[in-house]
Amino acid sequence: MIRDCATTAPATSTRVDTVIIGSGCAGGTTAWVLAEAGREVLIIEEGPDKTGAQLTQRDGEMYDQLYMDRGGRMTTDLSVGILQGRVLGGGGVINASDVVPLEDPVLDLWGRRFGLVDWTAEALRAARARALVDLSANPIREDQVTRNNQVLREGSTKLGYAGHVMRHNRVGCAGMGTCLIGCPIDAKKNPRMVAIPAAVEAGATVWTRARVVRIEDADQDTKRLVVRTLDAKGYHETGEVEVLASTVVLAANAVGSAALLVRSGIGNAHVGRHLSLQPQLPVLADFPDPIHGFRGIPQAYAVDEAEYFDDERGLWGFRIESIMGTPGIVASLLPYAGVRAKNEMTRYPHLAAALLLTPDTPSGSIDVTQSGRILVDYTPSKDVIDRYRDAIKMAARSYLAAGATRVAVPTLPPIVIESEADLAKVDAYPFRPASAPLISAHQQGGVRAAPNASDGAANPEGLVYGTRSVYCFDSGLYPSSSSSHTMAPILATSRWLAEALLTR
Ligand SMILES: Cc1cc2nc3c(=O)[nH]c(=O)nc-3n(C[C@H](O)[C@H](O)[C@H](O)COP(=O)(O)OP(=O)(O)OC[C@H]3O[C@@H](n4cnc5c(N)ncnc54)[C@H](O)[C@@H]3O)c2cc1C
Ligand code: SF4
Repeated sequence: MIRDCATTAPATSTRVDTVIIGSGCAGGTTAWVLAEAGREVLIIEEGPDKTGAQLTQRDGEMYDQLYMDRGGRMTTDLSVGILQGRVLGGGGVINASDVVPLEDPVLDLWGRRFGLVDWTAEALRAARARALVDLSANPIREDQVTRNNQVLREGSTKLGYAGHVMRHNRVGCAGMGTCLIGCPIDAKKNPRMVAIPAAVEAGATVWTRARVVRIEDADQDTKRLVVRTLDAKGYHETGEVEVLASTVVLAANAVGSAALLVRSGIGNAHVGRHLSLQPQLPVLADFPDPIHGFRGIPQAYAVDEAEYFDDERGLWGFRIESIMGTPGIVASLLPYAGVRAKNEMTRYPHLAAALLLTPDTPSGSIDVTQSGRILVDYTPSKDVIDRYRDAIKMAARSYLAAGATRVAVPTLPPIVIESEADLAKVDAYPFRPASAPLISAHQQGGVRAAPNASDGAANPEGLVYGTRSVYCFDSGLYPSSSSSHTMAPILATSRWLAEALLTR
């Protein structure tokens, strides 16, 4: 059953065996595994349930309704926009649908360097394979590689840079182009379409428009969750109820899970630390002929020439991936106002765009104010910024080779590149805080798993240190970047952790 708490308030007190906070890749999968095994499961989700035509393709309305903090969550110094879903099914509903698995070298590193010796490639093989099945992972077809993706591919290939057309989790995609604000024909095989229906079928209950604000008695057999119901738009809290549970699974996204622990005063000094944001920098390229980047699959081609695996740091280097945003998000990213902004937006049909994705070291932190506001502290390190410079140059050269008249990095002021000579501007740009529209879509860490409490916030089974049966099953556990994209890794690790939970 799916209950919309905005319209049907739950009882003032509810007792369940297991409560799962969040309904995305981690929460949906955990609920599915546990409910199928006969556990009594309640999923609590603060977002709404929106599918099909309710995903209206209107960017103002959809960012407001489907994204955490209405799409406006930022680091405290405003350097990085933190994009997260806030809807039944979580980030999978609004993500770019790229499927990149959790590979063996990452797990080897986590065992070798971070003591997660049970998280072996072999132990996780079945769960990783199952994640790809649940996603219906399939290659993006050649006829689905849009002009926006082709220009990056043509230019980078001409210069000899390696790249590939990605895999995705779309089935029956009609190329409507609004994946990042939800698919109105439900073509994405995301948790809302796969895990949640299966969990409900197996007996799980879902509450939407309900926010967990505190977990009490975390070291007791029965935990008490303070849950606030929200209004239909999710703007205001409307009431408060309690949920009593034997087992609590945090699956509220790396930032949300850590924040809830901090807010509840649970756990050790590692809670809220070791956050990785894997920030991405957009670049735009203006072409004489129309590109119509907003039509079709926004992200299909990746230049992976400079991406590699470092034995100490894990996934490293950078990759360049085509992307296109809806008009509202592109306009908001441009560093212009007034007539200049209007004139630049008239070029929208001629623009190609890419994101420069840089894996980082987990250096950020999460805190919560007295009023419950989440503070994310993160400064892009010098090595991230150095890689942006290399990535901008590679992207700019690729676009110019494909015929772009100018490439712009929408920094403040913008870096405009029209020829090889302009690349010197990239090295000169100072990259001060909040001067570049960096975005994070792959938050990891914050509840780092480690074999002992002196090194992490949770044990390798996801059990939060200092608690009795309060687990974290999302990417908060990851000690370093799991992949260039986090959906498939989270589906795999949450399934594996949930299956292990059933054996205890
Ligand atoms: C714009 C964007 C594009 C992306 N593109 C890709 C891609 O192409 N490929 C890929 O692999 N990955 C991509 N990702 C990343 C991927 O989607 C996420 O890593 C993944 O969805 C996270 O899953 P999760 O279950 O950990 O958290 P989420 O999916 O974020 O789910 C957490 C849920 O918990 C809810 N919640 C939070 N706090 C509370 C609370 N206190 N009480 C109740 N509910 C709460 C939230 O509303 C949310 O729905 C993208 C992400 C974004 C934002
Ligand atoms: S491009 Fe495909 S998956 Fe994306 S919104 Fe359109 S139909 Fe849906």
